[in-house]
Amino acid sequence: MQVGTREQLVVLLGLLIGIAVFLFDIYSPMGLAAGVPYVAMVLVGLIAQKPRFILILAIIGSALTFIGYYLSPAGVNFEVDWNNRGLALFAIWATAIVSYIHLKMLSRLEPLATTDQLTGLFNRHYFTSELVKQINIWRRYQRPLSILILDIDYFKKVNDNYGHVAGDYVLQMLAEICRKAVRDIDTVARIGGEEFAILLPSTAINGAMRTAERIRRETEAFSFQYEDARFRVTVSLGVAELTDESWSITEFMKAADEVLYKAKNAGRNRCVARNIG
Ligand code: GH3
Ligand code: MG
Ligand code: MG
Repeated sequence: MQVGTREQLVVLLGLLIGIAVFLFDIYSPMGLAAGVPYVAMVLVGLIAQKPRFILILAIIGSALTFIGYYLSPAGVNFEVDWNNRGLALFAIWATAIVSYIHLKMLSRLEPLATTDQLTGLFNRHYFTSELVKQINIWRRYQRPLSILILDIDYFKKVNDNYGHVAGDYVLQMLAEICRKAVRDIDTVARIGGEEFAILLPSTAINGAMRTAERIRRETEAFSFQYEDARFRVTVSLGVAELTDESWSITEFMKAADEVLYKAKNAGRNRCVARNIG
């Protein structure tokens, strides 16, 4: 979805009106009463993360504009002055409403940008950014950090035997199994078609292996039921702990991928941990 091209135009229009009001009114000392709150609002609107700030500022801006009007010195042309105040109020509220809608839309789009639509897990993009963050924490505090990579065994057969929709259902159930098997601070993501990755902060290889084994066992025990079909599915997992100061995220992920490959070659439905040292 295109975020707010129309909204941006309205903000631009509001800004132009605000500038016009400011220039018109600059001759009267109270021109500042309209100009300053408006400009402040636009600036805060640009950097604010909370829509409520913008609304509060709009209310303050409106109040100042009215006060400015009533405090205007004698001799000011009231007709022109009032028109300018009206325009200023319009510009302030147009900006407030548009910024409010804009921030609301952004907050609704954010989950879309970080979430996988099918399973509701995080997506690869989010997983990578979280991994970067955790690697930095690891470098600084030396708390252990592990990842699991999971791949469904013979998933193509599930699709071939029961259809693609049944395959999608398996992915959703598996996501649920993984979510339940981990702690709140762990990040579970779908990083490929039938590949999941889990990031386990403050967890060394043995703890990570226990989590992997729990997921493997629970998947093996789960009876998948799609329409009339009942079937079982197994998974293979590769487990790696970050031990090398010089590793990039790619190398860390590759380490887990390599042992996943070993799990596949050794017959599937198993977890293999990368040996340290
Ligand atoms: P292996 O045990 O070696 O992993 O065998 P596999 O059949 O699971 O592996 P392979 O990589 O050959 O096949 C993966 C299959 O996953 C192929 C593709 O059709 C299926 N797949 C990938 N993404 C999706 C998806 O979103 N939904 C469904 N239903 N299937 C998917
Ligand atoms: Mg695969
Ligand atoms: Mg597979």
